[in-house]
Amino acid sequence: MDQHKPSLRNNKTAKTILRIIGFIFTIGGLVCVIIAFIDFFTKAVDMNGSMPTKFYLFFIGFPCLFIGVVCLSLGFMKAVSSYVASEQAPIAKDVNNYMLDGTRDETVKTVKSCSDAIKGNASSESAGVVCPKCGVKNEPGAKFCDHCGEPLTKTCSNCGEVNDIDSTYCRKCGKKL
Ligand SMILES: [Zn+2]
Ligand SMILES: [Zn+2]
Repeated sequence: MDQHKPSLRNNKTAKTILRIIGFIFTIGGLVCVIIAFIDFFTKAVDMNGSMPTKFYLFFIGFPCLFIGVVCLSLGFMKAVSSYVASEQAPIAKDVNNYMLDGTRDETVKTVKSCSDAIKGNASSESAGVVCPKCGVKNEPGAKFCDHCGEPLTKTCSNCGEVNDIDSTYCRKCGKKL
């Protein structure tokens, strides 16, 4: 999971650029289309023989609008889905914990994750690290659980490489963790 970190950061920059480009294109395209529309209808209404002259703006405006909308949806799509994924607690694990010790804390968490699921956040895509101790889902790349403080990484005793908590072997030197 750690090797995705740099690309995740690049992705964020790319997403920001996409959003900015998308925004500019959407606004620009919208303005062109609106101008063309106004021109078309004012000229069409008064029949003094003058033809709509800004018709070409349709051909600029619509592709711009299209590019803008595509960029915007690409720019926001991943952000939305990862937001949904980070909001969504792992239900199965919570239910397990609940059945094991049934503490009030776990009940609250189970209720929360169930209500999240009801809200339509159920998504098979999982971004983030699930705490092996309490089952709370933490942000991708988190070092410690933000609920119980449990470490979410395994440091290799041989080479010191920090591995994901669910790794069995060190990704750098191959030693069993
Ligand atoms: Zn935890
Ligand atoms: Zn190692």
